[in-house]
Amino acid sequence: MPLDFDVLIAGAGPAGCAAAYDLASAGKRVLLLDKRNFPRQKACACGLTRKTLKALRYSVAPVIERECRDVVLQEAGATFASGTRIADRALEVRVRTREPFCAMAVRERFDEFCLQQTLGRGAEFRKIEGIVALREFDDHVEVDVARNDGSTQMLSAAVLIGADGSNGQTRRLANGPKYDGRADASALPNEPVWYARGFALEASIPFADLPTQLPAGDAPLDLVFDFSPISGGYGWLFPKGDHINIGVGGFVPQGTGASAGSSDTPYENVTRTLLANYTRAKLGVPLPTNVVGQYLGLGGHAYVPIGRILLTGDAAGLVDPLTGEGIHSAVVSGQAAAAAFLASERTRGSVAALYANNLRSLQETLAFSHRAARSFYREPGRGFRVMRTPMLRGLVLKTYADGLPHTRLLASLAKRVA
Ligand SMILES: Cc1cc2nc3c(=O)[nH]c(=O)nc-3n(C[C@H](O)[C@H](O)[C@H](O)COP(=O)(O)OP(=O)(O)OC[C@H]3O[C@@H](n4cnc5c(N)ncnc54)[C@H](O)[C@@H]3O)c2cc1C
Repeated sequence: MPLDFDVLIAGAGPAGCAAAYDLASAGKRVLLLDKRNFPRQKACACGLTRKTLKALRYSVAPVIERECRDVVLQEAGATFASGTRIADRALEVRVRTREPFCAMAVRERFDEFCLQQTLGRGAEFRKIEGIVALREFDDHVEVDVARNDGSTQMLSAAVLIGADGSNGQTRRLANGPKYDGRADASALPNEPVWYARGFALEASIPFADLPTQLPAGDAPLDLVFDFSPISGGYGWLFPKGDHINIGVGGFVPQGTGASAGSSDTPYENVTRTLLANYTRAKLGVPLPTNVVGQYLGLGGHAYVPIGRILLTGDAAGLVDPLTGEGIHSAVVSGQAAAAAFLASERTRGSVAALYANNLRSLQETLAFSHRAARSFYREPGRGFRVMRTPMLRGLVLKTYADGLPHTRLLASLAKRVA
């Protein structure tokens, strides 16, 4: 029976588009399925590191609003303002990088731009209500999708790429019965054991609404990572073209829920009240109504691809647990899944094994970040001591901006120091 498509991709965010772009460029029949029409809002500060810009197959210059070189890392002080712990300015680490450190875009426009590049290569896009069922066979997959008119349609392809993010269905469906089993989306199987979640909230405030002097002494155009408002994560100020994106995110569980100020889940303390207090303390304005939040997919350093369903990006838990950065992993894993499919056609090898191989260096980096995050968030003061040593600080910032091979060097130095 001829298949409807070579590859089906659930989710048209950075992971789905990266996979579809490479597959369509290689002449494959690709269908991107998404629950939302584009452009669509997605909770994200959309800081694009150098390694992300390098990984993308095309320039995203048309949607870059600012390139940041002034980076400020802030450590918690002993004082509170507007109900939130604030940074001790005397302890902050301020760096002006030679190359732009991080480019700033607005996520809605970034995703729309990437989707248009991908459609330009010949990929198709279809809006669906969701996935109803998933069946996996030796040589193909079948996906039943709910259409907007209430009907269900069965689609077949050699491979399904799950790029439907932290809240998506494919990760859980793929964790259910295999081969001729029927996984019913109304009773989703459990999350796989390796998967973990963080949570982040963000809002945008026009520069025009800010007081001339910010109450905590920050400069509006600095790129600020502030480790004071929350344990196991950080607050940020990301300057865009005409506004600041402010947010708080939790990535690493802190102690037990019983002890004050800590939680078993990295997202328990990330609340609208926390963001409102933080916004008042940092920017001196009330929280606007445009607050959005989303879970972040973590734990993917331990993900092992199986069968014909390849998970990518947040669906595969590939967010960096130290920094909360996820767009880079989404792009790289999407491309790795596409490359695995193309190689499996050439070699007749297992697409899952090929994908596992392609993911290895990203997972190595994330495994290092996983260990570093646990150590850093347990005792941020130690991490800040490292950041005050110029040579190590340079290496840490290069690792964030450029990734491998700096990660390997940092990991081997960290082992020697431990
Ligand atoms: C507040 C916040 C700030 C962040 N800031 C940054 C940052 O500055 N830099 C950075 O690198 N990362 C950041 N991240 C992380 C980043 O947003 C994610 O890691 C990234 O979006 C992952 O891309 P993805 O393609 O895997 O998933 P997503 O971007 O989540 O895309 C998934 C797509 O799948 C669709 N979908 C969902 N369910 C289904 C379904 N059942 N069927 C079909 N389609 C479905 C969704 O509509 C969506 O379009 C942030 C995250 C949050 C929450």
